Amino acid sequence: MEKQPTQLIDLFGINVFNDAVMRQRLPKNIFSSFSRIRVGNGELTPGLADVVASAMKDWAIEKGATHFCHWFQPMTGLTAEKHDSFLSPTPDGKTIVEFSGRELIKGEPDASSFPSGGLRATFEARGYTAWDCTSPVFIKGKTLYIPCAFCSYTGEALDNKTPLLRSMEALSKQAVRVLKTLGKTDVGQVITTLGAEQEYFLVDRGYFERRLDLVLAGRTLFGAPSPRGQEMEDHYFGTLHERIAAFMNDVNTELWKLGVSAKTQHNEVAPAQYELAPIFTTANVATDHNQLVMETLQKTALRHGFVCLLHEKPFAGVNGSGKHNNWSMVTDTGVNLLDPGSTPHDNMVFLVLLGAVIRGVDKYAKILRATAANTGNEHRLGANEAPPAIVSVFLGEQLTDIFAQLTSGGAKSSKKGGDLKLGISTLPPLPKDATDRNRTSPFAFTGNKFEFRMVGSSQSTAGPCFTLNTIVADALMEIADELEKSKNVAADAQKIIKRIAAEHSRILFNGDNYGEKWVQEAAQRGLPNIRSTVESLETITDKSHVELFVRHKVFSKQELYAREEILLENYSKTINIEANTMLSIAKRQILPACMEYCGCLASSAGVAADAGVTCRAIHKTLETVSRLTDELDDAIEALQTAVAMSKTMGKPVQSARSYRDRVIPAMQAVRSAADALETLVDAGLWPLPSYAEMLFLR
Ligand code: ADP
Ligand code: MG
Repeated sequence: MEKQPTQLIDLFGINVFNDAVMRQRLPKNIFSSFSRIRVGNGELTPGLADVVASAMKDWAIEKGATHFCHWFQPMTGLTAEKHDSFLSPTPDGKTIVEFSGRELIKGEPDASSFPSGGLRATFEARGYTAWDCTSPVFIKGKTLYIPCAFCSYTGEALDNKTPLLRSMEALSKQAVRVLKTLGKTDVGQVITTLGAEQEYFLVDRGYFERRLDLVLAGRTLFGAPSPRGQEMEDHYFGTLHERIAAFMNDVNTELWKLGVSAKTQHNEVAPAQYELAPIFTTANVATDHNQLVMETLQKTALRHGFVCLLHEKPFAGVNGSGKHNNWSMVTDTGVNLLDPGSTPHDNMVFLVLLGAVIRGVDKYAKILRATAANTGNEHRLGANEAPPAIVSVFLGEQLTDIFAQLTSGGAKSSKKGGDLKLGISTLPPLPKDATDRNRTSPFAFTGNKFEFRMVGSSQSTAGPCFTLNTIVADALMEIADELEKSKNVAADAQKIIKRIAAEHSRILFNGDNYGEKWVQEAAQRGLPNIRSTVESLETITDKSHVELFVRHKVFSKQELYAREEILLENYSKTINIEANTMLSIAKRQILPACMEYCGCLASSAGVAADAGVTCRAIHKTLETVSRLTDELDDAIEALQTAVAMSKTMGKPVQSARSYRDRVIPAMQAVRSAADALETLVDAGLWPLPSYAEMLFLR
């Protein structure tokens, strides 16, 4: 087995079968055919697959791998893998090392245990995984990982990768058409790029293990606020604690080996919250990488005595975690189509593409919102921290000005940023960006890309990305249809941009998205504000959405209906687990502690009385604690009833609504009684580690 280098720089991509390795190990003609196939030119023949598979196997075995697996992303939001050994027995009782092109290209996991939303009956267990040769294979542990798409026996997508790949093709097709009309005839392909900033919490493993809610539900279901929260705002970008820094170093090394370029890392706003951002890459690879990031954070945390929480809202009262999806489009000639250049007002290609994004986002705000809908994110969107549930677009000063000029005639100039003067002669003047940042916007233009910030920290980036790709592809298709017929493209393109600026100005908003004022203004503008997850998921199969996805061949009607059903079921299942976990903790840990404390107080009162003393505090506390304990007991009963009712509902949507309307309020009642008790009961008797301990102790 080869020895691994120790310098970070030499570690990058060391476990990836990347272009450099392929160039070395594949015959020249095979390498060039395969390179063409990966950008959509030509088909993978069995012969070629055999040669690639054999080179992969040799490389993997030299690196100590013993197994290979098809690695895919079913609708659980997680990844799945089934390992097979490279070794096959021979009739003479020996073994040979084998890995054919067929094994590389296609796998056959039993699909019956993965969510399918009725696309596949359980007796039809067959599912297929198909190698996605656009995302490189890599080695983790002793296994060669082969990124794959996952579909049913009849070819329906059962995963997140298939629609993502389809959407990338759809966007490319329409963008290339538009670019051709605008004179960019050398562009053969437009690639969507993605950089996903990942937020997460770290808690000490010792505390985690004593909290069944963290173990089973990934978030705290109980917990009175810590006396100190995030009000000092001293955690954000604060100095990294030694233990955290060691953890991050380790994470980086692991990710670097897998070719994931983890670049920035810092403390986030909430105590115990952190962020990791990789360098962006092709959306499909970036989505695979984000799964590796989440997995690596969780695995590495354990080695450092932490547990990494990827839940959107692990702690009430402090900020939750999101995933910022930085998204753009780049041509195969290397041009970032969302780069405005220095004079955006006369950059026609940029303005048309920007216009398409704005039109897509306004027209399909509801489906974009739905990509960020899950149980965890419900605690964030609409609360005053994350972007609200209202989709709007932040363009910044310069572009807003250009759009305003467009609506009132034509764009003649671009505002400049100028220099930042700090008034200190030894510090250099800093060129000021033409646009400030707006941290509250759900969809912000940030210089040369859009940042979609609604997405939850635990979610796959595939959903937001395939949705964004599809809605932009749709707007580009309309533009291409128009421009291809045009006799004067320059003038007509101007007209189109002007029309978009006028028609979609309601979606543009540069102000504070967290305030109540915006909620009212957005309502006046007619922008949807869908706060609840269930309501949002129900929009997935709106007629216009079905037509949109079918038109661009990203989903069939059945696939989209199945997806909605899976997501709704997932919502109910998650809340059901939370409610049952809550009941278990409340009945078996919190109630007993409260009753014990009442007993202690009662006997103290007796002892005091025997000694001829009356202690007011004992009686007062006893009275409050026993009243709240009864309240808790009542709330537990009510929650049990609500869960039982919701479970037996008929359709997935009815059940999900019932969990939302009955179970969630009943859970809140249990929590509020228990949290009040936590502030009164003897800390020595309280069964759960407190918020203060979990958030502040390292
Ligand atoms: P901030 O926290 O200010 O948003 P970060 O540096 O943390 O900035 O994250 C910016 C992310 O955007 C990085 O992952 C970066 O690679 C990504 N990014 C930059 N340019 C593009 C682009 N053209 N397409 C997609 N993502 C991009
Ligand atoms: Mg960001």
